[in-house]
Amino acid sequence: MMLSNKPKIAKGIKVLELSFMGRKINPTLIWDNENVVLVDTGFPGQLQEIRIAMDEAGIPFSKLSKVIITHQDFDHIGGLSEILKASDHKIEVITHEEEKPFIEGKKPLLKMTPERLAGMFGALPDEKRKEAEAKFLESLTSQVDKTVDDGEVLPYCGEITVIYTPGHTPGHICLYLNQYKTLVTGDALNVVDGELVGPNPQFTPLLDTAKTSLKKLTQYDVETVICYHGGIFNDNVAQRLVELANE
Ligand SMILES: [Zn+2]
Repeated sequence: MMLSNKPKIAKGIKVLELSFMGRKINPTLIWDNENVVLVDTGFPGQLQEIRIAMDEAGIPFSKLSKVIITHQDFDHIGGLSEILKASDHKIEVITHEEEKPFIEGKKPLLKMTPERLAGMFGALPDEKRKEAEAKFLESLTSQVDKTVDDGEVLPYCGEITVIYTPGHTPGHICLYLNQYKTLVTGDALNVVDGELVGPNPQFTPLLDTAKTSLKKLTQYDVETVICYHGGIFNDNVAQRLVELANE
């Protein structure tokens, strides 16, 4: 019998496409017979969109068993607490050790600065504004159940290898889906105008670290990339990864 790299029928990946204020974002859904894993959770208020996108993939929200968070940014953790509250069973939340205290609200989210909050709630009178800000930050807080580190292999959905790629945030991770030769990049890479590009300098405080992290990605046999911002890229990925790592 010939061995095939094609995903087995019982398993799957679906790139969800959510919209927020004219921007598209792409959480990834991965599943096998026992587990349904969502990578990143969109902005607050997108639960209904996630449910619909999961239904379209043929995987109802009620089957969701794990959420992996690539990093603490607002557009990645925004939907997490709503998802956990809406589920009738425990959903395991997984991230890197370095991101855990931010997601649990023990450290302030690095990019949710007072200026940014003021931009969101500045129109409110002072007392109301403080209340709204506190409520908003509280809504971004969730408990993390499991932390993962570089090289760790999660034994489901065809095996998921964690790649620690700090820079965009201190504990940013990418996920290599072994069975599919597919890399879920979080914000370590982006697709802009059909081209695979590096981290967005505007939102990447440790840009040099982030660029060094890209070298790690070249060690994996990647055929397809899924970027949270920009979606799927599968044109000569291995070569493009090497180019980006050497830039
Ligand atoms: Zn992002």
